[in-house]
Amino acid sequence: MTDVGATVLMVEDEPQVRRFLRVALGTAGYIVHEAATLAAAQVAVRDGAPAVILLDLGLPDGDGIAWTRQFRTHAATPIIVISARGREEDKVNALDAGANDYLTKPFGVRELLARIRVVLRQSSGPSVDVEPDVLRFDRLEIDVAKHRIVVADAEVHLTPIEYKLLVLLARNAGRVLTHRQILKDVWGNAHGTESHHVRVHLAELRKKIESNPAQPRLIITEPGVGYRMKEPLKL
Ligand code: CA
Repeated sequence: MTDVGATVLMVEDEPQVRRFLRVALGTAGYIVHEAATLAAAQVAVRDGAPAVILLDLGLPDGDGIAWTRQFRTHAATPIIVISARGREEDKVNALDAGANDYLTKPFGVRELLARIRVVLRQSSGPSVDVEPDVLRFDRLEIDVAKHRIVVADAEVHLTPIEYKLLVLLARNAGRVLTHRQILKDVWGNAHGTESHHVRVHLAELRKKIESNPAQPRLIITEPGVGYRMKEPLKL
């Protein structure tokens, strides 16, 4: 699959940032649509059917997080938040509202393009019932059909919670998942605020799959926010 020609809608009220993104995304082969307000974004989404939305949070007619929450009730278009707000709680709020990823300004073009590729691949990828049976990450192999985990050619036994945690992160590789999202998916809604559950089980999981659990390379901690599984190497 190629990303070239995919439409990116940027919702951003600062002309300099729009100019920077217009050039960077245009050079990378994307078609760029622009909106300076949430009202304009609403129209652009309806008329332009973007493949991905880059969303500033502080906009003249409202807040991007509230808009994301509302948008997610009826649309699945991936949203990458681009914001000067770099606090952990802003990231968590945006991700929990339904944003797919979060970049703090200033950010580099390469980083932005990498994040766009991840969300585009995930949104255009195979649906759940035709997902590949085997997921490979460097020395780790997850055979979903056989429920089998192999690390450096040796089978590893995971608890049911560790297994669910790993498969969830692997299926969302490249994307940060918040503690709340992980709790909801792995434990169900009941443990909504107990993020220490995630930390404890993740520490055990790392001992089993990382070559050096103190310096994890497969599952990266996003401090105060959640976890991101590193994308598999391209062969
Ligand atoms: Ca702004």
